[in-house]
Amino acid sequence: MTITSTPFRLALTRFGAGNNGLALLPLLVSGLHREVQPLPIAPLPLDPLAPGYPSTPTDPAHRKVVAVVYDDSLLLTPASISISPLSGKIVAVVATVLPKTSFPSSTTYIDYGSKLLIPGLVDAHVHLNEPGRTEWEGFNTGTRAAASGGVTTVVDMPLNAIPPTTTLAGFNEKLKASRGQCWVDVGFYGGVIPGNANELLPLVEAGVRGFKGFLIESGVEEFPAISSADIELAMKTLNGTPTTLMFHAEMIPPITDSVGDAVQSSEPPLAPKGTLKEYQTFLDSRPPSFETYAIEEIISLAHLATNLHLHIVHLSATQAIPILKEARKSGINITAETCFHYLGLAAEGVEDGDCRYKCCPPIREQLNQDGLWEELQAEDSCIKTIVSDHSPCTPELKLLPPHIQTMSTRPSMHLHHSDSGVDMRADLDLAPKLLPVLGEGDFFAAWGGISSVGLGLPILHSSSKKRALAGLKSAPSIVDIVRLCSQATAKQVGLSHRKGALRVGMDADICVFDDAEEWTLKSGGMHWKNRCSPWEGHHFTGRVKETWLRGQKVYEHGGANAGFVGRKPVGEAIIEKRIA
Ligand SMILES: [Zn+2]
Repeated sequence: MTITSTPFRLALTRFGAGNNGLALLPLLVSGLHREVQPLPIAPLPLDPLAPGYPSTPTDPAHRKVVAVVYDDSLLLTPASISISPLSGKIVAVVATVLPKTSFPSSTTYIDYGSKLLIPGLVDAHVHLNEPGRTEWEGFNTGTRAAASGGVTTVVDMPLNAIPPTTTLAGFNEKLKASRGQCWVDVGFYGGVIPGNANELLPLVEAGVRGFKGFLIESGVEEFPAISSADIELAMKTLNGTPTTLMFHAEMIPPITDSVGDAVQSSEPPLAPKGTLKEYQTFLDSRPPSFETYAIEEIISLAHLATNLHLHIVHLSATQAIPILKEARKSGINITAETCFHYLGLAAEGVEDGDCRYKCCPPIREQLNQDGLWEELQAEDSCIKTIVSDHSPCTPELKLLPPHIQTMSTRPSMHLHHSDSGVDMRADLDLAPKLLPVLGEGDFFAAWGGISSVGLGLPILHSSSKKRALAGLKSAPSIVDIVRLCSQATAKQVGLSHRKGALRVGMDADICVFDDAEEWTLKSGGMHWKNRCSPWEGHHFTGRVKETWLRGQKVYEHGGANAGFVGRKPVGEAIIEKRIA
């Protein structure tokens, strides 16, 4: 099968092999294991320095084409990509648009016009919560949402499901729960909690992509925070292993104005600076020093793990950036990720009581957001990836005041879920009465977490466009977005050999992106289980039109079955042992 593009259009073509009536046929011909190749035109090498490579296009129209990975660098070029539905792999990439006549007549050839073809996104931070808290999210709905946004791999966090992935037995239960439910490929992290050090290496053998521990209360009792002694033990145990040790880096500094210990479990501070419904009160209760103190603690122990990748999840405070850069300069292998919501939302835009915006660490001020954008563009940025930290809950737990409740977040709409796990009643015109909620609008009592898996591409592309229009230099291109959300996230979880790039031999995971379409996220457009997200009502530029997973189309915007092609999930659990 083949994907191609012209300077003015992109095309996807597939090879078929014969007349046996199947719509999509394998690339292998007559059992000879000979792959079909484009016939009359020899593929051009995707090497801009190689002889025969087309001269660099200067026409702006030429830029609306494919982001292709070549030798770990990214290239925006017209291209034809041949993919095999049998192996699910990319079998040829040609840096020009081949006409349909270049291929055998049985080839499926799809022309994507001016749309972009990019590698499927790898979202390296997602909470799917199944089993145990399946009313919050699940493999089926969470991966549908991913597929709808061009995300072809998600990596599930070890907490919020019950049991958590802190033991081999827990991991096996999670794998069992995932079976037959995944619309995209799913990798898994293990968890570090006090007392589970002897589970870590068995989990590495079982194929987890990394580990996460909390330096502050996680919010769920089955996933307690780790002490310095626990961190030391985990570092010593995992040192020299091809894995990533990740930290939720928030800690209460020894001297903190107005904060009591209870703030760890998200209870109000001893002396709140305002009412508990004011976003500012919440923001003040988790200052940047929580993050910098925790990161300093991790760095102080890093000498115990000189042969281990350390990683800070969901970095929010820019004050941590110089500390991380300094550590990296001194040779410590530490990186960070940030999230779509820290880049697309700012504290100034959060209405009091709107707990949909609550997450930890918090969404900070616009100035902080600008600093994150700048670091992403910096030379040797310590922020290597952008992820969703998709962490949903039922709408009741967000304690939304009546004036903020939307039809799909009203508590009465969510007492039950249908068997499919999708609450279709949100589509019905059944507006219930506005309901008062006990503790409504209380940022300390509400669950912290933001739903956004599948929205990353439109969020980053729209934000970047706005920044460019405002004359700001820190506006990433589509190539930057691919680097941050596909290539580098795949590397972060040890999947660079299969995921995150359009290159021969890689999984044919492809996102078809219309970078010009304007649209607004409405309740019906959310595919996760509980349609409650601060992104509702946001206007975006750029929309995912199709998603292909290992050579099969799994999502088509506007198509039947809410766009989910094939009616059956074809995603797989990734349990291969990490080797890099
Ligand atoms: Zn998380």
